[in-house]
Amino acid sequence: MVASMNKLVSIACDCFWERYQDRPEFVVAAPGRVNLIGEHTDYNNGWALPMAIDRYTVIAAGANPSVVDGVSEFEFFSEQMQASTSFTTQHPPPNLTAAAWSAYVQGVLTVLDGAGITTPPLRGVIVSSVPSGAGLSSSAALEVSIAKLALTASKTPATDVQIAQWCQTAEHQYAGVPCGVMDQICSVSGVADHCLLLDCKTVTWQTIPIDSEQVAILVVDSLTKHSLAATEYALRRRECQRACEVLQVESLRDATLEQIEKNLRTINLRLFARARHVVTENARVHETARHLSEKNWGEAGRLMYASHQSLCNDYEVSCRELDQLVEIAQSIGVSGGLWGARMTGGGFGGCIIALIDAIRAKEICEQFASKYKNQTGRQTEPFIVRPAQGAFVVRS
Ligand code: ADP
Ligand code: MG
Repeated sequence: MVASMNKLVSIACDCFWERYQDRPEFVVAAPGRVNLIGEHTDYNNGWALPMAIDRYTVIAAGANPSVVDGVSEFEFFSEQMQASTSFTTQHPPPNLTAAAWSAYVQGVLTVLDGAGITTPPLRGVIVSSVPSGAGLSSSAALEVSIAKLALTASKTPATDVQIAQWCQTAEHQYAGVPCGVMDQICSVSGVADHCLLLDCKTVTWQTIPIDSEQVAILVVDSLTKHSLAATEYALRRRECQRACEVLQVESLRDATLEQIEKNLRTINLRLFARARHVVTENARVHETARHLSEKNWGEAGRLMYASHQSLCNDYEVSCRELDQLVEIAQSIGVSGGLWGARMTGGGFGGCIIALIDAIRAKEICEQFASKYKNQTGRQTEPFIVRPAQGAFVVRS
């Protein structure tokens, strides 16, 4: 059973009390996300259809009395990692590596510092119901919750887009992940019962309601993460850049199918396939948004399967386990209450999402669990996610 917001807040406050014998002055929350469709389109200036989910990272924090030489000093304990980190933004610890979780925390505070926002010394406790490293963007939830905390503590106003872009910069510069801005926008600006039709070029969005009782979004974790993910992600970005150079367009958002057929197919089949994924995926985003608004679940589901095939064949970022889960979805099918499924997130492991008939959720979860166990020996526990509100201040 996943912890509710109230429960997470009380765990964070209890943990803060245990560590510091004090009541936290600030409590903030930021959610993870799933992307319904529009994968690997964000860094191509395209469109995506993400929604913030009812899984949050919560931070309880207060002033840190141990300030050395007047320099801001921060200390955070992550309940999920069972570890703490302490640092100053002016003097980064020399052993900071891309893999360290403190890179996200310190990165955001340092980027804010660079933007002229001085966060007062803080100590805090981080708790989360966003599974880490599963493609549900626990990294954005962590970054955005830290940014929200820093802005609250320093009483600095900022727009949603500013917050998201600071967090994205931190992820690029301190965690070494050249991500698009989708995850952070969604974590900052998610709207309950809605997904966001996000234009990643203009960083503007429209909200699309997903408030029907009929439908639910199911997440099924493949419980795998292949080490290829980071290098292949960077390679895909370079391939898209190369395709743009050949096509003489600023980004693949501006390319058409006819253009890539004519200019890429004969020159380089791999670049052609990459570009075809991006161009067709952008079109699927708009179509899916329309079908969801019209509660046309069958058509939205069909586009999710098409997205998965494109990611698998043209973009080559799926893996055996994700394909197995999508095949299980197909075997359940519309007659079993499942309209469509696809991998979500960067790929090479992580989760799939499925669009399902809400009243059949229990039996569908059981089928995924037992079939995946038979095929792989892994015990996955599918769960429903609801479109949730973006980051907010619980207490200040
Ligand atoms: P995803 O964003 O899909 O969950 P990433 O690899 O991008 O996967 O981010 C996961 C990383 O984010 C973790 O390895 C850890 O460094 C950091 N992280 C996320 N949540 C927490 C948390 N609650 N406490 C500490 N670090 C976290
Ligand atoms: Mg991430």
